[in-house]
Formats: sequence, C-alpha cells, structure tokens
Amino acid sequence: MKVSLIPEKCIACGLCQTYSAVFDYHDDGIVKFADSDDLVKVLPDSPDTLLAVKSCPTKALVLD
Ligand code: SF4
Repeated sequence: MKVSLIPEKCIACGLCQTYSAVFDYHDDGIVKFADSDDLVKVLPDSPDTLLAVKSCPTKALVLD
C-alpha cells in the first residue's frame, strides 16, 4: 500500500500513531513517517495502517 502524508492538513491530533507505529510526529506534533522524512511511502499491507489512514479526521493521510 502506498501512503502519502499531507502535513498542511494535519492538526496534530495524535490519533494515527495510536493505530499504527508506521506514523510518528515532528516536535510540533505534525505527522511524519517513523523511519523517514519522506512524504510518500510504499508500506506492507496492514490493517493497522489502513485503520490509521481511514481514521485521520482531516484526511492528512491518503491511500494512493
Ligand atoms: S490522525 Fe491525521 S490529523 Fe491526526 S495526527 Fe495523524 S495525520 Fe495528523
């Protein structure tokens, strides 16, 4: 699965990391990938990551 981050839409609610350790945050709470500063990443299919993407209240996480 390919996931894109749209940091401008992130409101730093902290929800996505509670569902998936793929996500982490910058010091200001804005979403990033845990292991890189890339904005697009191809990840193994995972129900946790899918749930995190679908749960983002501002659609700052996008499944391509
Ligand atoms: S769930 Fe969405 S708005 Fe909340 S921290 Fe994650 S990317 Fe940002």
